[in-house]
This record gives sequence, structure tokens and C-alpha cells, in this order.
Amino acid sequence: MPGSAHLVLDGLHGIRSDLEALYKDLHRYPELGMWEERTAKKAADALRESRFEVTEGIGGTGVIGVLANGEGPVVMARADMDALPVRERTGLPYASAVTVTAPDGTGQPVMHACGHDVHVTALLGCARLLARARNAWRGTFVALFQPSEENGDGADAMVGDGLTRKAPRPDVVLAQHVLPYPAGYVGTRPGPFLSAADSLRVTVHGRGAHGSMPEAAVDPVVMAAMIIVRLQTVVSRELAATTPAVLTVGSVHAGSGPNVIPDSAVIQLNVRTYDDATRTRVLRAIERIVRAECEASGATKAPQIETTSSFPPTVNDETATRRVAEAFAAHFGDDAHPIDLQTASEDMSVLARAFGVPFTYWGIGGTDPELYARAVENGTVAQDVPVNHSPTFAPVVQPTLDTGVSAMTVAALAWLGV
Ligand code: ZN
Ligand code: ZN
Repeated sequence: MPGSAHLVLDGLHGIRSDLEALYKDLHRYPELGMWEERTAKKAADALRESRFEVTEGIGGTGVIGVLANGEGPVVMARADMDALPVRERTGLPYASAVTVTAPDGTGQPVMHACGHDVHVTALLGCARLLARARNAWRGTFVALFQPSEENGDGADAMVGDGLTRKAPRPDVVLAQHVLPYPAGYVGTRPGPFLSAADSLRVTVHGRGAHGSMPEAAVDPVVMAAMIIVRLQTVVSRELAATTPAVLTVGSVHAGSGPNVIPDSAVIQLNVRTYDDATRTRVLRAIERIVRAECEASGATKAPQIETTSSFPPTVNDETATRRVAEAFAAHFGDDAHPIDLQTASEDMSVLARAFGVPFTYWGIGGTDPELYARAVENGTVAQDVPVNHSPTFAPVVQPTLDTGVSAMTVAALAWLGV
């Protein structure tokens, strides 16, 4: 297998400057979820140039490219394309100055603050290298470019638009994410890796009245307060100490003045869990507590509990992850590591689930290694290393891109290599 990887990656020095230019271009022109027209076209054009069979417009802006190279396994590799509503403050010469018009008519700056431009570039680099070295592998390589990961609806949109009919069924789905670790680092993790994330909007109904006449009211502010306090017991009192979970009430709104008891209150909360059983348990507990507190307060009608966004947990297949970890150890040596559980969330598992096949998802570093080492020395990693979604998130171009291209290629060849 390492033999195949070396043969294929031999081509990297020949395309490195192209990839760096592509990366800077994508970074300069970010697009929000479901608006990735320009990015998708770049991906489709590059795939066609490498003689992939390309299908565009899957679930909005999704793109797949299929490169069939004889009998053998089918590997699907995924990159997400979307950027974030963040005003860039990196000061980079290729920083984004893009602003779009938000629904309320105001200008919304856009930035690749999560490194999806790295993912797109790395996957296109891998696709190009595989296309150039067909005698070093066999099987079918499927490059998939997904819209709207940040909103949690891009993978669903592709599946809903017939992805499983439009793409060959893979044996494995691969994906990677740039994270605030030193550039050059690659990290794998069998089993749970990223949390499930569910956001809920809860509306509770009381009866409004004059602030001086509580006897005429059913006070939704008190109802909401009781719910918020009681929700703190879900993780602390209903889950084992060894089961990680987070429940945060991030928003509460009710009323408009000090002497008016309002009709209703709205609570927004976010839940992070790492397996389906815990997720179901926590969501059920929330519903039970909300309904019971409304009942206890004499609410005028039943509460509404709406899911506003939902990401499944990312649980890596053990066997596929071991296979990739071994290939990474052989190729990257000391730069290949086991990686910690992350509290972020992802929708890539939706793609693998749609086909009913295993997947593995790993992290690559993007932080300037010197900056990272200094921060470790000073004990200030959390303060000094810009994290994903921050306006100063700025992966160093190299070795981040080389690592991303190599990691995706080495992982794909763990199935396709001859
Ligand atoms: Zn993100
Ligand atoms: Zn991301």
C-alpha cells in the first residue's frame, strides 16, 4: 500500500502551486451554504479536466465526480464547500472582502472560517493525482462536493435528491476536517468522534395580564425560568458521570416591559451527545420536563417544541478507521496521532448512512506549528490558537494543503492501492 501512495503522491510537487492558487482563490471568494455556485463550478470543471464523469446540481449545488479504473473497491471522498457569515480579520493578502445581502437587507460579510476551502482543494488535489497515476490503483474513486454543512442540511439535500441513484454505492466514505492542531498533524479516532447536535425552540403559553394582578395571569416567565433550572438536572442527574453530554439554554425571550405579564415565552436550547441512546434519552427528558412544568404552572395550552437544526453523531467505523490509521502511520510517521473527542458536529455521516456503508472522518492540523508550540509552552493554546469559526482562523497554506492532499490520497489508496 505505501508503494502505491508514493507512486501517486510523486505527482504532488507538479500540482502544488496550482493547488495553492486554487486555495487562495476559494478563500478570497467564500459562499454561504446552498449558494456555493462558483465553488461547485470550480470543482466540476477541475474534475472534468481530470476526466471524471461529473454530475452537478445534486441537492442544490452538490457535485459528484466518478473515476472508474477497473474492477475493485469503490471509495467515496467528501469535501464540504460552504463558508460562514463571519467578517474576516486575518489580515491575509487573500482575505475575503465578500459581503452578501442578508434577508433583512443588511450586508452580511462571508468568510471561510471553518477551512472548507482546504477540504475542497485537498480533494481536488487527490482527484487529480489519482487521475494521473491510474496504473498505481484500481477500483472506482468518487469525489463528492457537498453544500451547506454548517446549516446541517447539505448532506440531507443530496440524499433527498437521489444521491444513492446518481453515485455508485461505495465500500467506504471518507472525509477530513482542518482543526486547530499544528499543520502537518493528522489525527484518527475509531468510534465516537464528533457530537450529535440538536437545537430546539420551545414556546410556552401562559395568560397575559397587568403586572399588578398575578391572580389574573398564568405567568410564562416563571414557567420558562422553572424549565431552565430543571433542565440543568438532565445531564447532572439523569446521565452517568462517564457519559459526555452538554445541554445549553442559549436564548430566552419573553415580555416587553416591567409591569406586563406576557402571553408566552420562547426558550432556545442546544444539546450535544455522542451516541443515539444518550441523544434519545436527553431529548425525551427535555420534552418530559417542558410538558410537566407547563402542566404544573397551569399553562393555557400545550407547549410547542420545534427542532430548528439537527446533526447526527459522527461515529467512525472501527475497522475502516484502523485501516486509515495504519496507512497514515506508514506515510506520516510521527505526525500521525490518535485525536481527542471533539464537541463540534457534522452531517457527513448522513451520506454513508444513506448507502448503508461504513465511514471514517479524521482531523488535520492547520495552525502555524511555531505559533502552536509557543502557545503550548506558555499554556495558552485556548487563548492564542484561533479556532474554527473565529474571524482570525487562518490555516497556514503549507504544510496544511500538502497534508490534506496526502491524507485523502493515502486513505483512498488504503482501499484502492495495488
Ligand atoms: Zn464549521
Ligand atoms: Zn467545518
